[in-house]
Amino acid sequence: MRSYVPGYELLAPRTLSDALERMAGQPGEWKPFAGGTDLMVLLEAGKLPHRKFLSLWKLPELRGIAVTPEHVKLNALTTYSEIRDHEVLHHEFPLLCQAAAETGSIATQNRGTLGGNIANASPAADSPPALLVYDAELQLVSAAGARWIPYRGFWKGYKQIDLRGDELICAIRLPRNQNFSKHFYRKVGTRKAQAISKVCFAGVARTEGGRITEVRISLGSVAPTVLRAAETEKILRGEKLAASLLQAAQRALAREIAPIDDIRSTARYRLRVAQNLLAEFCESLAG
Ligand SMILES: Cc1cc2nc3c(=O)[nH]c(=O)nc-3n(C[C@H](O)[C@H](O)[C@H](O)COP(=O)(O)OP(=O)(O)OC[C@H]3O[C@@H](n4cnc5c(N)ncnc54)[C@H](O)[C@@H]3O)c2cc1C
Repeated sequence: MRSYVPGYELLAPRTLSDALERMAGQPGEWKPFAGGTDLMVLLEAGKLPHRKFLSLWKLPELRGIAVTPEHVKLNALTTYSEIRDHEVLHHEFPLLCQAAAETGSIATQNRGTLGGNIANASPAADSPPALLVYDAELQLVSAAGARWIPYRGFWKGYKQIDLRGDELICAIRLPRNQNFSKHFYRKVGTRKAQAISKVCFAGVARTEGGRITEVRISLGSVAPTVLRAAETEKILRGEKLAASLLQAAQRALAREIAPIDDIRSTARYRLRVAQNLLAEFCESLAG
């Protein structure tokens, strides 16, 4: 059932400090509204629990991508289209560009933001696996100040994140000069476009003389949160690729993910696909 729109309040503050003051006055009452591509779906379905919204869309402090010698900093309102078109991101963080290109339609990419994708905290979201393998950090701001945290520790459980009711995600920072020789991303859905992931896999690695010197792997849609496959990484790190190593890594992956049956897929299918994608990633390292 559709929601009764006059029952909602939407304010559009002009500055970030106005927005933060409003949130500080009534923590948890004012829900941030960025591109609205997640929130409008809930509104249409009559499932929007909040009544008060703060539009972030016109806050200049939350826009733009800045490149320094150490980092690329994407402010929270950066859209998928802006990510897709950014040259430095293309060269150094191609998995994030690929995730952006495979998110929804062009309309969704023009409006949906990276901050909104992170805060929405869906385990099936497509940019978090890419952000996790690049060791992204988040800047959270409130009227009391700002803090940087590793994105890896941001998830606390299904749809639970380390964000207070008076805080906003301000920016996402990616460390440069990581020099990965391999970047691998696969989103498996029902169709090639406009589909929610059944399994999403991101992997990066450095190799030297056939040995994997560094490897990071992250998966979406296979657990209550998007996760880094730390045990699987540990088995692969420092080793030379071999069939027995791949089998050990696949067994470790099965232990650390927890796929479920739902309307989009089955646990069995998700496990098999996750292991197959791990094999594809490892084989691409040998190549
Ligand atoms: C047709 C369609 C297709 C889609 N396809 C995909 C897909 O393929 N892959 C995918 O991952 N997602 C997909 N989505 C989901 C959605 O587009 C993304 O999650 C998007 O990034 C959300 O960003 P937004 O700015 O629109 O968020 P909003 O809808 O404005 O907000 C989402 C949540 O984040 C919070 N929020 C927003 N910004 C901030 C901030 N700066 N600080 C704190 N909290 C904040 C809001 O309060 C809300 O809880 C799709 C959506 C639609 C409608």
